[in-house]
Amino acid sequence: MNYASYVNRVKSFIIDSAKQADIDESLNNPWSDFKETAYYLFDELITITAPFDYQEPHPIAALFKLTKQSLHQDNQSEHAILACLESWWREWHFVATMNAKLLEQHNDPQQDYLIAHTHHPMRNHELSHYAKLFTVLPMPICNVCIETGDILKVNQRYIDVFGYTINETPNVADWWIKAYPDAAQRAAAQELWRQSLITAQNNNGDIPAHDYQITCKNGAQVMMQVSGISIGKEFLVVFNDATERVKAHELLSEMAFLDSLTKIANRRRFDEKIASEFAKVSTTQSPLSLILIDIDNFKQFNDRYGHIAGDECLYNVAQKLAETVSRPEDFVARYGGEEFVVLLPQTNEEGALFVAEQIQKAIEKLAIEHIDSFTGYLSISMGINTITPEQCDDYMAFVHAADNALYYAKKQGRNCIALSAE
Ligand code: GH3
Ligand code: MG
Ligand code: MG
Repeated sequence: MNYASYVNRVKSFIIDSAKQADIDESLNNPWSDFKETAYYLFDELITITAPFDYQEPHPIAALFKLTKQSLHQDNQSEHAILACLESWWREWHFVATMNAKLLEQHNDPQQDYLIAHTHHPMRNHELSHYAKLFTVLPMPICNVCIETGDILKVNQRYIDVFGYTINETPNVADWWIKAYPDAAQRAAAQELWRQSLITAQNNNGDIPAHDYQITCKNGAQVMMQVSGISIGKEFLVVFNDATERVKAHELLSEMAFLDSLTKIANRRRFDEKIASEFAKVSTTQSPLSLILIDIDNFKQFNDRYGHIAGDECLYNVAQKLAETVSRPEDFVARYGGEEFVVLLPQTNEEGALFVAEQIQKAIEKLAIEHIDSFTGYLSISMGINTITPEQCDDYMAFVHAADNALYYAKKQGRNCIALSAE
């Protein structure tokens, strides 16, 4: 193809059009005569490029690119017209391709049908209507060739959301690498997609919806519910933004495991956590320690200072515990009422005792007045239990032994730490 002469053809079309007085208005009017003139130009151009074969980039898109460089840099009208031509071209090419496909399917002997209809695709209401719908639908959509893996078509929202232009997403293989820079995550997502396509084969081509966390061109992550339909040798993929839904779901499950008063993990979370940590003891061959904590004479605290002050006190103690027990693998939860629990993986008895002493100091430092207690300030009692891999068989017994130690600490006069004797 002799680009130079066609660049000149498009360039003079743009320069002439830019001189029209009402050009700005025409650009914004999808039914303007100017748009129809542009369609005639496309029709003229497509006959000299490869008409409806899939090519990426399409020669006309390349032609527009070259034309852009030859326009006057500072003439905004000319650049606006070119931008319009590019977008109308997509619409026009879509309709024209659909017409060509329909012709093929119906094996229409009337050869000039194509020419007649592509001359005036705007009048071809149905198809231009759907072409427009495809372009403006408010969710990303792409059309993929199963055999070549080429992304044949994308809509505007696809470009906006993922940030890749058509030229940057030449085929599915490349897309996977960009959307999933991490190889393990990519393999998992590809497997999910492969399974979905198998399901689709047995289900009228319906590709079932699943959530995928996709990396956009700028590195941002979007959570998309991806579904679609496979039709013959192509499939149409639809992306629904699931970011808010997944966030809400995460928040709900977080809330289900969060104690609403103290804002630390709740008993349910602890039950899960201890089961999983207990199971790890034999695989990691390292000890696990547990500290049960109970506030001393808390009933009297409530009686004297009131329930609201009691709640506030529980919050402050819980937050102090969470702050003091700071290794990422350590875990603090509200066990119930005025009792808390600390789980210390890979920690022996000596280590647990050290942590308990740190906790005791931290609570002392809070210096919450409690005139009915022995010291005049709020204090806690703690029971510690540690298991080694050899002992680990029943975690209920493990917790129970820590509870016995705590009971012993209370009996010793409170405000102290006791180690399990078992
Ligand atoms: P001990 O030193 O033996 O632990 O005495 P205690 O008074 O702390 O123990 P007891 O089990 O007799 O009382 C626990 C109190 O904790 C009873 C209840 O009023 C208080 N409590 C439990 N949950 C809450 C809560 O959510 N908010 C408030 N304000 N108080 C609570
Ligand atoms: Mg208690
Ligand atoms: Mg108590």
